[in-house]
Amino acid sequence: MTPSDLQTPPWMDEASCRTSTPGDFFPSDGVGVERAKRVCAECPVKAECLEYALTHRIEHGVWGGCSERERRRMMRSRRLAATV
Ligand code: SF4
Repeated sequence: MTPSDLQTPPWMDEASCRTSTPGDFFPSDGVGVERAKRVCAECPVKAECLEYALTHRIEHGVWGGCSERERRRMMRSRRLAATV
């Protein structure tokens, strides 16, 4: 096991975006977000990716087929659910 093995979750090896330009998943407008989400829609590790982003509170970019705004809403819902 190498240090990079410790930092990169195994599911990333299956990611549909692994050959994409990373910047495509950090779009600056809605068109770019929709383009990234289309790649995510076919991704076999979409659920793992989304959970990773939520767990690590990753604020920027499209992860798990969700925009930054969508993930903020999910985090808010989880926080509210945790207080009930
Ligand atoms: S869900 Fe999207 S961002 Fe996440 S690994 Fe798959 S293609 Fe990449």
